[in-house]
Amino acid sequence: MSNPLTSARNRTSTGTTTTAGEQPSIAFDRVTVTYGRGKKSTDALVDFTLRAERGETIALLGPSGSGKSTALKALAGFVRPSSGRVRLSGNDVTDLPPAKRGIGVVVQSYALFPHMRVRDNVAFGLKARRLGKDAITQRVSDALAMVSMSDYAHRLPRELSGGQQQRVAIARALAIAPDVLLLDEPLAALDAALRQSMVMELQRLRDALPDTTMLYVTHDQSEALALASRVGVMRDARLVDIGTASELWSRPPSTFTANFLGGANLIDCVVGRVSGTTALVAVGERMLTATAPAPIRRWAPGAKAAICLRPHEIEVTALWAAGTLAGRVTASVWRGPSTRLTLAVDGLPDQLLEADVPGHVDHPAGERVGIRLPDPVGVLVETPRTPR
Ligand code: ADP
Ligand code: MG
Repeated sequence: MSNPLTSARNRTSTGTTTTAGEQPSIAFDRVTVTYGRGKKSTDALVDFTLRAERGETIALLGPSGSGKSTALKALAGFVRPSSGRVRLSGNDVTDLPPAKRGIGVVVQSYALFPHMRVRDNVAFGLKARRLGKDAITQRVSDALAMVSMSDYAHRLPRELSGGQQQRVAIARALAIAPDVLLLDEPLAALDAALRQSMVMELQRLRDALPDTTMLYVTHDQSEALALASRVGVMRDARLVDIGTASELWSRPPSTFTANFLGGANLIDCVVGRVSGTTALVAVGERMLTATAPAPIRRWAPGAKAAICLRPHEIEVTALWAAGTLAGRVTASVWRGPSTRLTLAVDGLPDQLLEADVPGHVDHPAGERVGIRLPDPVGVLVETPRTPR
């Protein structure tokens, strides 16, 4: 796809940093942000270190209050780190005002100027720069075209739907042809159907801007999986895990990430014999086979661990079908395409398993069923050591 905004950027950035290609596009170096002072202070971000290569899309995923927006604001310049540095293409921007950083920012609430027409909203960031009138008109029309909003240039924000307003907000961020685009839960205010089509829209935008580095903040794992090449998982002001979406999904480094990214049964077990990437583990009175992800040395015989077993990997069958365990349904919730069953498996004490079975299955609570676990049953995840 031809991309007028990228070429516009290349023109304006000629002659700036020559080493940009070698430096990460975004770098957070041990950034800590504390709000307030003394007893009432909150550490919103602690020792946050992250690098993004030029053109990469990284999602910051985590529950509400975990520090995602604070990280993004530290990069945009809206909050001041109490320690640590932020760099753009190798240049330390920690002390630069937001407007001097040349970053595009999109937030959940659109934040359009209500009295300004769409084209003036989009032109807003350009007027502050020394661009001629024709250049501004061109940039505005290119940016609106990128989000399929060319026909709405004359409208006021209140004459647009939520999804359209968000597109305008994205166009406004793109109009300055930023090297870095920050998006803070841009779809959170939209309804589910619209969110889905906007995710596809954002995928298109990401692919049309291969040199633009994106940092995408969300609490929604499906947005993170759809958009990001790497996902950073946040918890309690810290980055707890980072990896490609598929690494984090298939070999979660922590029980928190296993659960937050996709939902998981985490079955307590004791590691027995490990051979290659296969481990024999004890779960209650049963011995099961699990996958032991590299590095294998993490899995000492006798160590406690958890097996990550995804709900859709459990099959529910007739009682005593070949190769199944027996158990009891304790709850059943139909969710449309699948039914979420809660299962008590004989011989797995105290641990209820969640299973997603396709379709609308009718298993009343209390019914005894056959349960087929995959083989290997799941992947081992280290559990936090309990302090003695
Ligand atoms: P997230 O975006 O992941 O929901 P935030 O970065 O907004 O999380 O917030 C992280 C923590 O910092 C939370 O505990 C929040 O209450 C606190 N916090 C955020 N902004 C402020 C502020 N301006 N003043 C005081 N505390 C704040
Ligand atoms: Mg937030």
